Amino acid sequence: MNESKVTPGTLYIVATPIGNLGDISARALDILAQVDIIACEDTRHTQKLLSAFSIKNKTLSMHDHNERQRQEYIASLLQEGKSIALVSDAGTPLISDPGFHLVRHCRSLGLAVSPIPGACAVISALSVAGLPTDRFTFEGFLPSKSNARKNTLLALANEARTMVFYDAPRRAIDTIKDIVVTLGGERHVVIARELTKTFETIHSDKAESLLAWLEQDPNQLKGEMVLIIEGYQADPDEISAEAINTLKLLLAEMKPKKACAITAEIYGVKKNALYDIALSLKT
Ligand code: SAM
Repeated sequence: MNESKVTPGTLYIVATPIGNLGDISARALDILAQVDIIACEDTRHTQKLLSAFSIKNKTLSMHDHNERQRQEYIASLLQEGKSIALVSDAGTPLISDPGFHLVRHCRSLGLAVSPIPGACAVISALSVAGLPTDRFTFEGFLPSKSNARKNTLLALANEARTMVFYDAPRRAIDTIKDIVVTLGGERHVVIARELTKTFETIHSDKAESLLAWLEQDPNQLKGEMVLIIEGYQADPDEISAEAINTLKLLLAEMKPKKACAITAEIYGVKKNALYDIALSLKT
């Protein structure tokens, strides 16, 4: 494999492992060794990663609290032709990690920004969850307070896509209780904990059963986790309140057969089921 060469004036967004150091790519190591400077969330944390691969390079801290100031400085270095790598503590930068403001700023100045892909907890968890992945929504961290968390979940109650969240395992029992209350105990949930690490656990069940499983094993409340919730599956036989209302309005104007046929066409429901409702509405 040829060594990857850095291009002057480029900002590289470099993914690092989410646990297992073996997941760093050969290209990431080349880039981290060659860039002029590595911008990182926590310099001590990144130094440990660099030492593990015998890389000696300069680091510069860039976290949530100084990103706006740092973006000017980093952009000026890029404009001078320096090459810079951005890493976060784990996984892909910008994914629930700092870097968005910096990338937007650099792109607005026409500077080159290039991805060095690798580990990401969202994608790793999705790849093993066994829930549909053709369409999904990543919702970042769930709120830590129960009321706010319930509101977030309620707002997603009719979301048909698979939903992915970051959450702390120590809150897992409270979170699953909130899922049972807001989305129902039958909803399928997957917990992907400690991915790529020694105690990697991927457990999937209906919310209610998952709660019982968590309550009997305190070890499941440690480490890091991704929570995946099955999207809302509409019951094909369920007739919405909106459809019933339309049916009522039409029944006032026409014969039941026609009213049911039109309502069935609009809402994609079965005519027979509407007919039963039409009869009950008449009595
Ligand atoms: N940028 C990272 C990425 O690409 O996944 C995510 C950073 S975010 C600050 C950290 C959260 O990611 C953790 O709280 C956890 O929800 C999730 N996470 C990170 N590593 C994980 C792992 N090994 N197993 C499960 N979840 C993980």
